[in-house]
Amino acid sequence: MPNAWKLNGEAEALLARADQVAEKTIAPAAPAVDREARFPAGNIDALRSAGLLKLVSGKDAGGHGLGLRAAVSVAERIARECPSTAMIWIMHNCAAATIDKHGTPELRKAVAEGGKLATLAFSESGSRSHFWIPVGPAEKSGTNVKLNAAKQLITSAGACDLYVWSSKPAAAQGLSSIWAVPVNAAGLSIPAKYEGMGLRGNASAPITAKDVTIPASNLLGEDGKGFDVMMGIVMPFFSIQNCAVSLGMMEGAFARTIAHVNGSKFSYDGAAINSLPQVRGHVAKMRVKIDLLRGFLLDALDALEAGRADAMLRVLEAKVAGAETSLEVHDLAMRVCGGAAYRKDVGVERFFRDSRAATVMAPVSDALYEFIGKAVCGLPVFG
Ligand SMILES: Cc1cc2nc3c(=O)[nH]c(=O)nc-3n(C[C@H](O)[C@H](O)[C@H](O)COP(=O)(O)OP(=O)(O)OC[C@H]3O[C@@H](n4cnc5c(N)ncnc54)[C@H](O)[C@@H]3O)c2cc1C
Repeated sequence: MPNAWKLNGEAEALLARADQVAEKTIAPAAPAVDREARFPAGNIDALRSAGLLKLVSGKDAGGHGLGLRAAVSVAERIARECPSTAMIWIMHNCAAATIDKHGTPELRKAVAEGGKLATLAFSESGSRSHFWIPVGPAEKSGTNVKLNAAKQLITSAGACDLYVWSSKPAAAQGLSSIWAVPVNAAGLSIPAKYEGMGLRGNASAPITAKDVTIPASNLLGEDGKGFDVMMGIVMPFFSIQNCAVSLGMMEGAFARTIAHVNGSKFSYDGAAINSLPQVRGHVAKMRVKIDLLRGFLLDALDALEAGRADAMLRVLEAKVAGAETSLEVHDLAMRVCGGAAYRKDVGVERFFRDSRAATVMAPVSDALYEFIGKAVCGLPVFG
């Protein structure tokens, strides 16, 4: 459908560029990225060349100054071919939006004009998926800050340029502070390569920080007020884009499922798999679930842009709606494609494996249901 995301002209032009990159560069590389658990550096270079790493950065810093609607459209398109690349790209946008709002002019330009790739380094092995309670300390020393931490499962670990990094506050009260940390800072190391079940290309490795010294001016937001940054910027960007990645994955799996059921035949009578009413019923269920999620996502974007009263609820719902719908749709894709679904050439099993991550990426679905439950019962959500 033309302009289904209701984009403005600039965003439509960028989506058209993303479409080209997805078709010419990302799609052909996707099976090998998965098979070899290889960070898709060529895909990221192509996205950078197309101006897509600066999509959310402010125009005054050299970016496009576009928001979540444009980001969602591109994330969904990339995820149809390579969910690993889509996850790297949305993590970059979360970090880039945080730097754009709170970073020094130099940092903002480094991302927007300089094409630096960034990511979120929040999760720690000490606080696991409860990223809003980092346990790694930050210690002030003159004009610098010293960070120590054991981060877990950080997308683009070692392959990006900048981490948007959480720690305990340096001096103030509060749960956390957020910093920009260069990937080559002395004291950072990656103790183990990521060999995941899914999203195998996104280098989600642990990172150890031992006395990592950065300028105190790399603070993003106020000391002790990391939670405000997490809730104000990161959460909407992550949750809504994550939903878009789940949607794109489902579209990717759906297209491959339809190709299989239409193209594979019983040789004894020449009928395709789609001649089975149960199969048609399952693909219909997949389509209904995908379209429901697409409608939800469009409404969530409307709610955020209009500042509607239910905007924060939509933010909390988006990641869990995407993640859980995606589990159901990918289960159906595997079922409908039968034993052939286990074959890599059919293409469905890669999406099935990739689709599992969204549920356990923080905030995990179980925690989100708890937050949403509190919200709809009128209780304090984070109390
Ligand atoms: C592919 C991938 C990429 C990732 N990329 C990043 C990244 O770029 N940056 C980053 O910071 N992190 C990243 N993570 C980490 C992610 O955000 C989570 O922190 C991590 O997956 C949590 O795993 P865990 O084993 O610590 O879960 P645990 O916290 O140990 O959870 C175990 C179980 O407890 C449940 N549970 C946990 N908390 C609650 C709660 N409050 N209420 C109810 N149930 C709960 C969970 O649902 C789960 O069933 C990534 C993870 C993956 C898998």
